[in-house]
Amino acid sequence: GLATRLQSVFSKLRGKGKLTEDDVNEALREVRLALLEADVNFKVVKDFVAKVREKAIGQEVLQSFTPAMVVVDIVNKELTELMGGTQSKLARSNRPPTVIMMAGLQGAGKTTTSGKLAKMLQQQNHRPLLAAADIYRPAAIKQLQVLGEQLKVPVFTLGDQISPVEIAKSAWQHAKENGNDYLIIDTAGRLHIDEALMEELRNIAAEVKPDEILFVVDSMTGQEAVNVAESFHKQLELTGVVLTKMDSDTRGGAALSVKAVTGCPIKFVATGEKLDALEPFYPDRMASRILGMGDMLTLIEKAQSAIDADKAKEMERKMRSAEFTFDDFLEQMEQVKKLGPLDQILDMLPGANKMKGIKDVKVDDKQMGRVAAIVKSMTKEERANPDMLSLNRRKRLAAGSGNSLNDVNRFIKQFEEMRKMMKQLSGMMGPKGQKMMKN
Ligand code: GDP
Ligand code: MG
Repeated sequence: GLATRLQSVFSKLRGKGKLTEDDVNEALREVRLALLEADVNFKVVKDFVAKVREKAIGQEVLQSFTPAMVVVDIVNKELTELMGGTQSKLARSNRPPTVIMMAGLQGAGKTTTSGKLAKMLQQQNHRPLLAAADIYRPAAIKQLQVLGEQLKVPVFTLGDQISPVEIAKSAWQHAKENGNDYLIIDTAGRLHIDEALMEELRNIAAEVKPDEILFVVDSMTGQEAVNVAESFHKQLELTGVVLTKMDSDTRGGAALSVKAVTGCPIKFVATGEKLDALEPFYPDRMASRILGMGDMLTLIEKAQSAIDADKAKEMERKMRSAEFTFDDFLEQMEQVKKLGPLDQILDMLPGANKMKGIKDVKVDDKQMGRVAAIVKSMTKEERANPDMLSLNRRKRLAAGSGNSLNDVNRFIKQFEEMRKMMKQLSGMMGPKGQKMMKN
């Protein structure tokens, strides 16, 4: 898949150390192919690669200590931008009910997603009402009713002899009268876009003035999904997209193109048939998953709940940019202590268990004290530049901190291992990264 392809491009790049313009161009050619193969829209790919190239070919990047990492970082940021930058939240009307209208082709997952949304809102202490406005497909009303029963969420229906516009209007009244703060209108789809469907949807929208028109689309259909979204958007002013069936073997093209092509943000992704398989969409996390950095973010999230948020952010930045110094090492040991058992944390870092030495990092107070003494014996310059610690300097550190030269050497070695790991973190490969892609 896309993730595997991109990760191998960047791991090749990292293997090179210093980079030339040709190296970067070669890598970008492969990125371009990988994106096209993932069924990302041609023009989107072209713009994307041009943007990355412009940023990656600058002197600063190629001269940097870890050029490949900087390139990965640029790709990561551009992928995030491509998918909308930040999370797009569900609208909330200050004159309830907030009306959410579902739209999309038949089989895209509108009805299932309506149920999932109701469940999500219910868990947030809202009182959603589901409305059955698909009067055409046999058993469509029943399907929604079954979901409603499962969730204990009320389902409004007027049978299949009343027009969808009337149903939507009455459902709105019903929600208002019964204190439902969200109204989710499940509509009919067709196998193909047709004018009758569009007109019906436009009429419903004109009647109930939805706060959200969510376009539900099967991510497995790739670029076709994006094309359909675009034609719906032209006629309906969609407010957001829900990508369904992300648990299936999708190539990823829809997730990467839909925002760029339609201007409509992805608000949710659905990852299964079960009612809890709906997640808010975070462009940054998706980008990181694609690049195999997923577990690092999970770790950072964990860190953020245990640790001061600003510090965790700074830690993340440093991890990504490999500006990791002895001072940070000390800091991190203290933070890590707050996170819990070290083995558990290491389990979240794919590759960490493969790295010799890292398991030897003991996080006990005694060890911390010794390490702290060594770091404190360093000059400011030495702390920032581990490479300048010559034998003479190490001897001085040993004497100054009351440790043996061996202790100092061992610590510096551990530090180097940790640093190496930080670098590898940015391009984590292997089964865990892949798993995150699917989750
Ligand atoms: P609608 O015609 O747009 O209302 O689509 P439905 O909600 O009836 O869904 C069509 C089929 O897709 C059903 O069998 C759903 O169980 C299935 N489905 C919906 N969302 C997902 C998803 O995220 N993952 C998987 N694997 N199946 C889904
Ligand atoms: Mg349906």
